[in-house]
Amino acid sequence: MVSLKGVTNSFGELQVLKGITHTFQKGKTTVIVGASGSGKSTLLRCLNQLVEIDQGEIIINQKDINEYNHSDLAKEVGMVFQQFNLFHNMTVIENVMYALIKVKKMNKEDAVEIAIKGLKAVNIEEKIESYPSQLSGGQQQRVAIARALAMKPSIMLFDEPTSALDPETVSEVLDEIRKLTKTGLTNIIVTHEIGFAKEIADEVIFMDDGKILEYGSVEEVLNNPSNERTKKFIEKVL
Ligand code: ADP
Ligand code: MG
Repeated sequence: MVSLKGVTNSFGELQVLKGITHTFQKGKTTVIVGASGSGKSTLLRCLNQLVEIDQGEIIINQKDINEYNHSDLAKEVGMVFQQFNLFHNMTVIENVMYALIKVKKMNKEDAVEIAIKGLKAVNIEEKIESYPSQLSGGQQQRVAIARALAMKPSIMLFDEPTSALDPETVSEVLDEIRKLTKTGLTNIIVTHEIGFAKEIADEVIFMDDGKILEYGSVEEVLNNPSNERTKKFIEKVL
């Protein structure tokens, strides 16, 4: 469970999050939509200690986020980025093993075993000795998903996971994310893929100018938005 209360955040003079209060239920998939610059990435980054909040409270699985050190939080919260963020000087399997050894203090044999299993699960085992630059975008993103899942997080954050992909590889990544929505993970997904959102979301949030303007079911927010700004946004991205 992820719960935010009155969360604000600023970069210098610019206030980006203007009081976010929301509870993301355990095991549910929430899709966040909203215009560029509305604070979606910053919100996800707060949940991962990549960005520090100014005010408010974030509770991750019953514990205040400030009580976690980076390693402990990394065991609970996995993140997949638009630009994959793989380690370019490491092979695919080394990318997946890295945090298992560094953060989970696993021995090498166990890390290899878990990495191979995870890479098989996303259908990329034939590339384990390749470097990220030798992979397509879709393949890199599947490695990034396997890397995050290898840590066995209870919460997964996806920040526009298909926005940097060629159109023909989008579906292979969406397929992997779709599978994860059926596993009891708590997923928070920023995406402009409205069709996909309609299919997988238990809940949809519409963000505008650092605030949650509207939230509810797919039916409520995407099919029958009550707010004019939500309506306009959805018309634009469809
Ligand atoms: P979104 O993901 O919805 O496009 P972001 O959370 O990336 O929005 O950005 C929200 C606002 O915060 C934008 O105006 C952006 O320029 C600003 N911002 C984001 N990250 C930083 C940063 N590290 N330093 C300064 N401004 C930032
Ligand atoms: Mg963003």
